[in-house]
Amino acid sequence: MECIECGEKIIGRSDKKFCNDACRNAYNNKQNKDSTNLMRNVNNRLRKNYRILMELNTDGKAKIAKSRMDGLGFDFDYFTNLKVYKNGSEYRFIYDYGYKLLEEDFVLIVKSQS
Ligand SMILES: [Zn+2]
Repeated sequence: MECIECGEKIIGRSDKKFCNDACRNAYNNKQNKDSTNLMRNVNNRLRKNYRILMELNTDGKAKIAKSRMDGLGFDFDYFTNLKVYKNGSEYRFIYDYGYKLLEEDFVLIVKSQS
């Protein structure tokens, strides 16, 4: 067996993954850092999307060309929740701002009442 952090041969029990505590800690810290970075990136995208919706929707409701949102860097893959209403219309929300894709590449932006 080799240590999954440093690659050194492990002496002793065959179920050990690390040669010592330092390697175990180094490995776990790296894993945590990766997931922290991932969360930070997702949060940044959501924050940017939120800011764009907020800027475009000043009157509670706005119909905007999708290309304009693309131009501002809006990322349609990132939202916090999906709401499907009884009539079948589907809104993607980023916190309290939501949007629905309309015909002809328009987007309807709304703000949740709650
Ligand atoms: Zn090691």
